[in-house]
Amino acid sequence: TIPPLERSDFLTGQPLVDGTEICAGSTYAVTNPATGKTLANVVKLGAAQTRRAIESNSRALIDWRKRPAQERARLLHDWLALVRLHRHDLGLLMTAEQGKPLAEALGEVDYAASFIQWFAEEARRVYGEVIPGSADRRIIVIRQPVGVAGAITPWNFPAAMITRKVAPALAAGCTVTLKPSELTPLTAFALAKLALEAGIPPGVFNVVCGDAPAIGSVLTSHPDVTKFTFTGSTAVGKLLTAQCATTLKRVSMELGGNAPLLVFDDADLDQAVEGTIASKFRNTGQTCVCANRILVQGGIHDRFVEALAARVSAFTVGNGLEGATDQGPLITRAAFDKVQGHVADAIAQGGGIVTGGKRHGAGELFFQPTVLTGANPAMRLADEETFGPVAPVFRFDTEAEALALANATRSGLAAYAFTRDIDRAWRVAEGLETGMVGMNNGIVSTETAPFGGIKESGLGREGSRHGIDEFLEMKTINLGVR
Ligand code: ADP
Repeated sequence: TIPPLERSDFLTGQPLVDGTEICAGSTYAVTNPATGKTLANVVKLGAAQTRRAIESNSRALIDWRKRPAQERARLLHDWLALVRLHRHDLGLLMTAEQGKPLAEALGEVDYAASFIQWFAEEARRVYGEVIPGSADRRIIVIRQPVGVAGAITPWNFPAAMITRKVAPALAAGCTVTLKPSELTPLTAFALAKLALEAGIPPGVFNVVCGDAPAIGSVLTSHPDVTKFTFTGSTAVGKLLTAQCATTLKRVSMELGGNAPLLVFDDADLDQAVEGTIASKFRNTGQTCVCANRILVQGGIHDRFVEALAARVSAFTVGNGLEGATDQGPLITRAAFDKVQGHVADAIAQGGGIVTGGKRHGAGELFFQPTVLTGANPAMRLADEETFGPVAPVFRFDTEAEALALANATRSGLAAYAFTRDIDRAWRVAEGLETGMVGMNNGIVSTETAPFGGIKESGLGREGSRHGIDEFLEMKTINLGVR
C-alpha cells in the first residue's frame, strides 16, 4: 500500500527509548485509512516502559541542560538537515498512516521542519533580566529548563505537532518522552530516529506508544516529570490537566476549536471563497483550526454559496498516494460516523445540501466534500467540531448578530473574517473571543506566530518567540552587595 521507502526501517514500528528501539512485546496493527490495509505492526508499550523512559530522561537531563545553547542549537540544526533529507519518505509515511494527500503531507514535513529551525535559532536567545535593586541588593533573573517534559500528540498532524513541542523543549534544555497518537506512530518513530542519528543523545527524546491511558497516567503523575504538554480533544485535555494537578506540573494544552468564519457583504468574494477552502478543507476538514461554522451576511449569501459549491464539487477525492488529490479519507470509522451524523442531523433540522452529503465512492472512510445551507444553532454541527469535509453555511444580517453567533461557544481557538472595511476588520478582530484571527486569510498557523486558544481551547502558546517559554522557568537571584 506504500511505495518503497529509501529508509525501509521507517516501517519497523518500534518505539525508541534511551536510544534503543524496543522490538519485543505484543504488537498492534497501524493501518492506512485510505485502504484499511496494515502498514506495520507496532510494539505496544504501557506504564512500566513509560517509567523507564522517564528515568532515562532524568539521567540525560543532567548533561543536556548544562550544554551551551550553541551546542543544542547545532544538534537541532543537524536534526533539521536529516528531516529535510528524508522529506519524501516522511511524506509518504504520513500519507500512508494518516491519509492526507501527498502534497499536503510534504507541506507538513516542511512545516514540521520550520519549528525545528525556528527553535534551533531561539535556543540562543533565552535572555534574562536585570532589575534595578537597592543600595545593597542586585536582582537578576535567569531562565532555566523546566526539566523532564511529557508530551502527547494527536493523529491529524503526525509530524508538526511533535516538532512544535519537542524542538522548543530540546532548545530550552529539557528532555522529553512523547506519546504520539496510536493511529500515527510511524512518523513519530522516524522523527525520533533522525534526532538520534543527528547526535541528540539517548534519553533526550523518547517515543512511547501503545496503551494511551496507562502511558498518559504515568506521564501526568510521575514526580520527575515537571512539564506536561498536550494537543488533542478538549475532553482528554481536561482529564490530563486534572491528572497533572496532584504533582502540580506546568501544563500546556492545545485543545479543540469550533472556528467561526464570517463573510460580510463587503468581502472580496474570491478571497472569501479561497480562504474558506483553505481553512475548511485542509486535511479533509480534520484540523482544530478548520472553519466549523460559516456565517454569511444576507447580501452576499447566495453568490458566496454558489462560488463555494463550484470549487468544492470540483475536488479530486481519493488515496493520497495515487495521483494528485485534494481530499483524503477520514481517519477512522468513528470519525466518519460523526461527520455523517452531523449531516443527517442538519438535514433533519431543515438544512439543505448544495453539494456532497454522502459517502464517497473512493472507499469506506471517504466522505463527499459537502456544502450545506440553512444551518442554525440548534444543529449538532453548531456546537461540536465536525472534523470533516462539511461546510455548513449560517445566514446573518448584522455585524452584532454575527459576533454574538461567532462567540456563542465554549471554544476559543481560531476565527476568520472577510471584509474590505478597515473599521469593521478591527472591530471584528477585537470582538472575536479566540486566540487567533485570520482576517481576509484562511490560514493562521506559522512557526513565527503564537498558536493557541482561549476559553476551553487551551492554555499556553506554541511557536513564535513565546513557544520556548513553555519549557523555561524564571529564577530570581537576589544578590546582596557590600
Ligand atoms: P482526537 O480526537 O484528536 O483523537 P484525542 O484527545 O482522543 O483526540 O487524542 C489525542 C491524543 O490523546 C492521542 O495521542 C490519544 O492517544 C491520547 N489520549 C486519548 N485518551 C487518553 C487518555 N485517557 N490518556 C492519555 N492519552 C490519551
